[in-house]
Amino acid sequence: MTTHRLTQKMKRVFRAKLIALYGDVCFYCESEFLVCQHVIQGMVNPYAEEYDHFNDLEWDNRIENVCRSHKVCNQRKKHNPLLKKKALEQLKKNERTGVIGFEPLDPTPDDEAIREYNEEMYANTEFAKLTTEYLVKHLPTNSSRLPYKSSVDSITMICFDAIGHCSQNTIRRILDMLCSDEGNYYKYREGGKQWISKTNPMFTK
Ligand SMILES: [Zn+2]
Repeated sequence: MTTHRLTQKMKRVFRAKLIALYGDVCFYCESEFLVCQHVIQGMVNPYAEEYDHFNDLEWDNRIENVCRSHKVCNQRKKHNPLLKKKALEQLKKNERTGVIGFEPLDPTPDDEAIREYNEEMYANTEFAKLTTEYLVKHLPTNSSRLPYKSSVDSITMICFDAIGHCSQNTIRRILDMLCSDEGNYYKYREGGKQWISKTNPMFTK
């Protein structure tokens, strides 16, 4: 299966140009990245560097449409009209001027790319729905908690049964999103294990 996501190679090629265009900071909040990839206070580093598509279309890999952002700002943008506006205005500006050193690519995807994108969007929506259902069912009270790792395995199995494919990485991404600053759940480390709960244990203990 071909993938239309931004490849590591494209990120390497784009990186210096993106820094020249927007600075070595997050496009959205304009503050620096935190390099460490490990868990901070029980959460995966929310200030790690990610590559974001201004128009949210993951197959539209024109450099005009790409920026570097914090993991958390990338997620925040999905629900924040001001950040979305900032992104689309930048894309429009870039399309007008072009990005020097990069050939303009055809922004129109082929049918195959659209079909794959639609299937992926459908699957991602179902995965997110099944993951949320699992958390609602298994975290009945504010003091309930679930072990992160075995929950990832169980949810992956449930999604695999329902959709016919699923990876643990996908479920980890969804859980991390639900446990982000904007989500309704918390992920934390205690006793050498990671846990998920509805309330932040730092405030309930
Ligand atoms: Zn940011």
